[in-house]
Amino acid sequence: MTDVIILGAGTAGLSAAIYAVRAGLSVRLLENGVCGGQILNSPDVDNYPGIPSISGFDFVQNLSGHAESLGVKPESVIVKSVELAGTVKKVHTANETIESRTMILATGASHRKLGCPGEDTFQGRGVSYCATCDGAFFRGKDVAIVGGGNTALEDALFLANSCRTVYLIHRREGFRAHQSVVDAVRARENIRLVLNATVDEILGDQFVTGVKLKNTQNGTISQLEVSGVFVAVGLNPNTDLFEGQLDLDGGYIRAGEDCHTSVEGVFAAGDVRTKPLRQLVTAAADGAVAAVEAGKYLA
Ligand code: NAP
Repeated sequence: MTDVIILGAGTAGLSAAIYAVRAGLSVRLLENGVCGGQILNSPDVDNYPGIPSISGFDFVQNLSGHAESLGVKPESVIVKSVELAGTVKKVHTANETIESRTMILATGASHRKLGCPGEDTFQGRGVSYCATCDGAFFRGKDVAIVGGGNTALEDALFLANSCRTVYLIHRREGFRAHQSVVDAVRARENIRLVLNATVDEILGDQFVTGVKLKNTQNGTISQLEVSGVFVAVGLNPNTDLFEGQLDLDGGYIRAGEDCHTSVEGVFAAGDVRTKPLRQLVTAAADGAVAAVEAGKYLA
């Protein structure tokens, strides 16, 4: 019987593991993808206090190295289902059932899709959800990035370093991204803003050749020739496993700053929980809080 099962080895999960182990709790850290989570896709992290600039990859190396130095070994498993209620929590994988006294849910969020024709057809053939991973394939070419949040604008800046022209397509005129990023984007000569536009279709033959755009104000249809389309239109929380077992709010796990969920002994940390600010620093903080709260519950 483990003290804590942590689901998800992103920033929140790894931070929770560090705090839990340091508090003397036994921990199993389960991850169904690559250890590190979403920040792996960030080319440059420049808002983590105390670290002026670091790549997402290096940040994860440091964080997972820290956890491993304390004896935490993330396990790569596909979780089939969970049982959250009661004093014994259970995780069912393909091969075993793992039991614990508490559970920290740090499953994060995944890329939202545009849902237009061509998106699935050309995924991996010009359509990408990760500028850091795939940007190098488009060196010297014209690309589009869709979205108006921090991810889209930061990715536009990253792509502008190697692509000829980056068209930033956004469905309205105001941006969700931080003002400093908006200013940086506006200052870049090879980023062109295509505002009040949505992508109606992604066009191509074998690979992407362009996008069909619809003006959101007058309905006019136009086309843009690009070799790549980067989609950065937000996130969907990874909570399918928990549906019907605890309170969700808009798909996110309902939990406050103490990370308590509606089920005793189950805590939510990071992007997966309801919160006003989804950042690396708040994910790390949640991990710490959730681990401490799990310790208090066990005590
Ligand atoms: P986000 O902030 O939710 O922004 C999503 C953007 O996509 C919005 O501009 C939205 O438009 C647009 N959008 C949504 N659905 C669309 C659709 N179907 N078609 C066209 N456009 C669509 O998502 P995000 O940029 O991925 O960021 C996620 C979270 O991570 C945020 O909390 C963000 O602050 C955080 N983050 C922080 C940093 C940083 O601090 N450096 C970096 C990356 C991400 P509307 O604005 O019109 O709704």
